[in-house]
Amino acid sequence: MTMITLSFDNGPDPDVTPQVLDTLRRHDVKATFFVVGDKLRDRRALSERAHAEGHWIGNHTYNHLVPLGLTAERGVAAAEIARTEERIVGLAHERRFFRPFGGGGQLDRRLLNREAFDHLRQGGYTCVLWNVVPEDWAYPSSWVERALKLCFAEEHALLVLHDLPTGAMDNLGRFLLAARDRGAVFTQDFPQSCVLMERGRPALPVETYLTEAA
Ligand SMILES: [Zn+2]
Repeated sequence: MTMITLSFDNGPDPDVTPQVLDTLRRHDVKATFFVVGDKLRDRRALSERAHAEGHWIGNHTYNHLVPLGLTAERGVAAAEIARTEERIVGLAHERRFFRPFGGGGQLDRRLLNREAFDHLRQGGYTCVLWNVVPEDWAYPSSWVERALKLCFAEEHALLVLHDLPTGAMDNLGRFLLAARDRGAVFTQDFPQSCVLMERGRPALPVETYLTEAA
């Protein structure tokens, strides 16, 4: 049996996030939204709705411009995390979920620098990676087939989608139906193999995702 956990990164978006929430409600699936702090300036109500409907809210940096592992300037990585955490006060999950920005889904040393790692450790964050990226931003319709193939190759898939206005989320319902048709079970919690740090403690070999510089 394949289990699938859904996550939506880079939002919230005034049009697409409500659409995603409606679809999730219709299909009775709970997910996690990894939000960009800067977008919450005037869109916090969208994350409040997600939270109220049982979805989890995580931190996905403030500006989402440069992977933290490529950020050399002192103070930037810590601020990218801390400023977003301020914006999601009252909404953040108690395990303090943070997902690094992978620049197209890359799982490598660009994810974190030492400063980011120290900040996450000291702040007791749970750092959440992923194992399925169907590139919904590039394939607004056919990401569904890509995602099905990739998810069913995993025992427990942690799928990255984006609540962004690409048109891809018009096909979310189709994905959910097809996955259930094939026997997938949706669960909100993350696979162990995708949790890099749990409440500040490394749970996987962190060096793999830590840049040497900085
Ligand atoms: Zn992202």
